[in-house]
Amino acid sequence: MKNISVIGAGTMGNGIAHTFAQSGFKVSLVDISQENIDLGMATIAKNLDRMIAKERITEDDKTSTLGNITSYLDLKEGVSQADLVVEAATENLDLKLKVFGDMDQFAPAHCILSTNTSSISITQIAAVTKRPDQVIGMHFMNPVPIMKLVEIIRGYSTSDEVTATIMELSKQLGKTPTEVNDYPGFVANRILMPMINEAIETLYHGVAGVEEIDTVMKLGMAHPMGPLQLADFIGLDVCLSILNVMHEGFKNPKYAPCPLLVNMVMAGKKGIKSGEGFYDYATSRKAEVVSKSFL
Ligand code: NAD
Repeated sequence: MKNISVIGAGTMGNGIAHTFAQSGFKVSLVDISQENIDLGMATIAKNLDRMIAKERITEDDKTSTLGNITSYLDLKEGVSQADLVVEAATENLDLKLKVFGDMDQFAPAHCILSTNTSSISITQIAAVTKRPDQVIGMHFMNPVPIMKLVEIIRGYSTSDEVTATIMELSKQLGKTPTEVNDYPGFVANRILMPMINEAIETLYHGVAGVEEIDTVMKLGMAHPMGPLQLADFIGLDVCLSILNVMHEGFKNPKYAPCPLLVNMVMAGKKGIKSGEGFYDYATSRKAEVVSKSFL
């Protein structure tokens, strides 16, 4: 594997491009927006500078990492040489089905098509291609250059050979790959999202405030971040869409999203990305806002 195409230059896409490029792979970074490509490249440069400041890499490493990345606005051009594609475009089923149909047409026959989706079925995505045995989930964690885990999700038709190749490749990136099967939420979100949802229910029922709930989980369970702060970090819209996928997929009411979460997303309060979620980031003071505005 030499040439990796990353589709989407957003939060995850730029981290994935950074990680592959720093490990010496040639990366084609594809997005539909030049502005998002520019923002993504600026984020990679900023994160490399941070690593230089911590003396973990040198200026030369930064130059070679950035030199390994070429950006494209055209998908056909961006995947034409790919040995592996990692799709990290917006979490939307129709969008992913369209992108996978196009990639199947434009990428070389040997190319493995992977997706970083948080919740969409790998089997469903694979079914729109003529190479379902070469489609697999590569679920990186945010922030990608730092987090060690890659959840490797086998779709119904994913071959043993492709799974072994992707497990090995993830190790080459310095990551710890973990193989799981393709059911709603996979493993990471199947366990994490009900916990976050329960924290929101606890707030919704007035059992305790935002700070109190997060403090209990941080100090009592040794979690590095409380569940409400983590939800703000992930994006409340992302949490809601993952819970909806699990609720629909399992037809089990235990995954039904808390009405407070639904209300907050409808009100545009999406966490850090919108400046406000359970905490207020606009004032750069993490003041608790939800207990005042919603209860
Ligand atoms: P994001 O909104 O930050 O970035 C998405 C990017 O995709 C944008 O730059 C957008 O312009 C681009 N895009 C949209 N349509 C496109 C197309 N047709 N072709 C090319 N680019 C296109 O989203 P994100 O948070 O980086 O999430 C990306 C994927 O990663 C999603 O599937 C999400 O579920 C998954 N994921 C996210 C996180 C997280 O913490 N944010 C963690 C793990 C997995």
